[in-house]
Amino acid sequence: MKLPDKILKATRIRDGKGFSLAKHKPDEGFGLKLKKADAKELLAQGKEQLSAMQERLYADDRWSLLLVFQAMDAAGKDSTIEHVMSGVNPQGCEVHSFKAPSAEELDHDFLWRTTCRLPQRGRIGIFNRSYYEEVLVVRVHPAFLEGQRLPPSPHDGSLWEQRFDSIRDFERHMARNGTRILKFFLHVSKDEQKRRQLERIDNPDKNWKFNARDVEERAHWDRYMAAYEDAIRETARPHAPWYVVPADDKWLMRVIVLKAIVAELQELGLTFPQVDDEAKARIAAARAALEAS
Ligand code: ATP
Ligand code: MG
Repeated sequence: MKLPDKILKATRIRDGKGFSLAKHKPDEGFGLKLKKADAKELLAQGKEQLSAMQERLYADDRWSLLLVFQAMDAAGKDSTIEHVMSGVNPQGCEVHSFKAPSAEELDHDFLWRTTCRLPQRGRIGIFNRSYYEEVLVVRVHPAFLEGQRLPPSPHDGSLWEQRFDSIRDFERHMARNGTRILKFFLHVSKDEQKRRQLERIDNPDKNWKFNARDVEERAHWDRYMAAYEDAIRETARPHAPWYVVPADDKWLMRVIVLKAIVAELQELGLTFPQVDDEAKARIAAARAALEAS
C-alpha cells in the first residue's frame, strides 16, 4: 500500500498567500478509508524509510532537519512525535518541548530559547511547540507580553506583523544555511478535542494527562484558529512549508506526518560521501598494516 501523493500535496502549504483554514477539515479522510492495519503497515514502511534517510542525512553532513509541531491540546502531538522518534536513531535526534517561558528566557528576545536548541548539521531536531507560541498563545492572551518587558518599538506595524517579519527572516536565514524546516499543524476539531478530554477524565489511566486549564482554553477556540490561520498565511514558504494535517483520525495523521518527512528528506538529494583514490589507498595500507600486526 502507498499513501497517494495527492494527500501530501493537499496538506502542504508552501505559499501562505490566501490560505484559508476553513478549506482544511480536521476530519478529512481524502476518500482513503484507512483501516488501522493499513495505517500500521504504512507507518512501519515510513519508519524504515526514515531510518535509511536519517543515515544519509548524518553521512551527508550538510543539512539538518527541524520539525516543528504545533497544535491545540489533545491533538496528538506527543504520540505523533513518539511515532516519528521510534523510526530514528536516538543519537541523531533531539526533542525539545517549550512551555511558558522561564525568567531567564524572558530576559532574552523571543527567538533565543529555540535558537539555542536548533539541530546540528546531520541531525534531526523536533520542537514540541516552538517560537510560534509567540504569535499563538501570546496573541490570544496578550497579558503574557507584560512579562516580556518590551521597549516601545521604533518600527512601523503591529507587534504581530513585526514578529512574523522576525520569524520569516529567521527561517530564511536557517534555510540558506542548511536547515530544512517543516512545520506541522495537527488540526483537531473542537468536538474531537472534547471527546479526548472527556476520555482523559473518565479513564483513570489517562487522568494524569488531564489539565483543567486546557478546558478553559477551549473558550478561546475561535481566536486560536484565527491566530493559526494568520501564522500559516504569513510564514508558509517553499523553504519552510506548513503541513496542515487532519488530526481527528490519529492513525491517518501519524502516517501523513511520517510520509511528509520522508518525502522532504528525499528531495534534499542526500548522498553518502564518496571515497577518493587517495583515501582508498590509505584504507588499503591500513588493512595491510592490520593484517601484519
Ligand atoms: P501536554 O499537554 O501534551 O503535556 P503541552 O505542550 O500542552 O503538552 P503543557 O505543559 O500542558 O504542555 O502546556 C504548555 C503551555 O505552555 C501551553 O499552554 C503553551 O501554550 C504554553 N506556552 C508555550 N510557549 C509559551 C510562550 N512563549 N508564552 C506563553 N505560554 C507559552
Ligand atoms: Mg497541555
